[in-house]
Amino acid sequence: MSESLNLFRLQKLDSRIDHIKTRLVQIDRALSDDRRIILATKKLEKAKEEAKKLRIELNQIEDKVEAQRIKRKTTQHSLFSGKIKNPKELQDLQRDSEALKRYIVQLEDEQLEVMIAYETAEGNLDQAQQTLDRAKGSAIEDNAALLGEQSKLKDELERLTREKEAVNQSIPQVSQSLYQKLREKKQGTAVVTVVDGGCGICGQSITPADRQLIRSSTTLVFCPSCGRILYEE
Ligand SMILES: [Zn+2]
Repeated sequence: MSESLNLFRLQKLDSRIDHIKTRLVQIDRALSDDRRIILATKKLEKAKEEAKKLRIELNQIEDKVEAQRIKRKTTQHSLFSGKIKNPKELQDLQRDSEALKRYIVQLEDEQLEVMIAYETAEGNLDQAQQTLDRAKGSAIEDNAALLGEQSKLKDELERLTREKEAVNQSIPQVSQSLYQKLREKKQGTAVVTVVDGGCGICGQSITPADRQLIRSSTTLVFCPSCGRILYEE
């Protein structure tokens, strides 16, 4: 088997291995990244806080309304008990009672507003909880798919590594190190096929004499432009 063919096979294996390694790093990162859950948890905490705040506000205003009602009842009671005869005193009590009535109406309006806000907050809280549950559910699904892909890729990587060892057996050490150096310099691609009479990567056209030489497989031919090893099927 020709050396350029062996190098070409090696290149194909290495390219696939590079691709698998890159993907495995991505999968690792994705598996440890649960941004969706973090985000949904934050939103839930915020919604909880908001609902709690409004609940306290609502309790306070309810207490306030209740206190004013009691106060007004006492005033009314004094007013109609018949015990107070002084007209000035009665007039004051009447005024107090009316003022309290107005204040209670105002408080009840406020109470209604807070109640509506509280109900909205409760609705938001429910939604935030559902969003978090969904995020957790889809993370489990996604992770299952990723773990499956990861396991397949690891198996393939093992197989390719063994194939690579076998191919390397038939390549002289000098060519192996030449190939390695080229791969480092040329973004991982040291061997390239001739496509339409030109270098498959940089497009430089290859002379018929060189192509003959490539096919004769007695010597390695390099692209005159990018310097990669040429291979022609
Ligand atoms: Zn080239």
